[in-house]
Amino acid sequence: MKNLKIAIQKSGRLNEKSVQLLKNCGLDFENYKSSLITTVANFNLEILFLRDDDIPGYVEQGIADLGIVGENVIEETESKVNYLQRLGFGKCTLKLAVAKDSPIARLEDLNGKSIATSYPVILKNFLDDYKIQADIQMISGSVEIAPGLGLSDAICDIVSTGGTLKSNGLQPFADVRTSEAILIGRDGLEDNEILGELLQRIQSVLLAKETKYVVLNVEKVNLPKITELLHGVKSPTVVPLAEDGWVAVHTVISEDDFWGKINKLKSAGAQGIVVMPVEKIIM
Ligand code: ATP
Ligand code: ZN
Repeated sequence: MKNLKIAIQKSGRLNEKSVQLLKNCGLDFENYKSSLITTVANFNLEILFLRDDDIPGYVEQGIADLGIVGENVIEETESKVNYLQRLGFGKCTLKLAVAKDSPIARLEDLNGKSIATSYPVILKNFLDDYKIQADIQMISGSVEIAPGLGLSDAICDIVSTGGTLKSNGLQPFADVRTSEAILIGRDGLEDNEILGELLQRIQSVLLAKETKYVVLNVEKVNLPKITELLHGVKSPTVVPLAEDGWVAVHTVISEDDFWGKINKLKSAGAQGIVVMPVEKIIM
């Protein structure tokens, strides 16, 4: 079978998590920082290490079959690629921000003003949607210093914690779009078996990440209350303990309702609750 090529970021915010995801899928490869391409020893896949901006284009042209990249970059480069799987990392929001003492407070106030950004396409689409006419100033980096230098009235930039904005005397006032890392693919991979296998592995890793393995002890009389609270992948496993009248319950629960459930389990008589990470879940 012909190898597939997947493009991931060479270095930067998505590199480590992309590498980790592929490794968690059981792929065995050397993460050479110096080489552009590496071959996976135990899977029909080659990994290309690229600048994130180049990834959608490579996939669109079919130089790479697959890629892992932020939605913001896909939209900015206007590439025609297929969204195969949301990956749940690299989450961030593209926001509009102005100086703390700026008179700009609502979107309409941006009419006739200038906005500095590294995302002119996304910003233009957004402003068009709201019928706002502003002057977009393309800057490739350090956008947050533009208002202070008198280069622009506002900025549109990626914010995760807001710390950079704050230290530059800026405050966000509107969200333009949210983004996360996505697995993208070129056209024509519909029946590809390697992709099918890879997707299945990725989904099982993602599912496992949202799940915890829980073991707890409970007195037999309280077991019905506990099993009612736990509807895991299947019904929980119940094992007798050496102490008479007590059992251990094993199950998996979703990360989302984790804290809520743990407290309810405690009130229902659960003791010695042990929570462990899950590596993979094969459905
Ligand atoms: P490259 O050298 O590959 O061009 P870059 O400097 O353009 O890298 P990074 O800063 O590494 O890009 O960000 C890569 C992606 O990570 C972004 O496009 C975005 O999708 C995501 N991301 C998540 N959080 C943030 C953040 N706080 N700031 C910037 N990008 C973020
Ligand atoms: Zn980039």
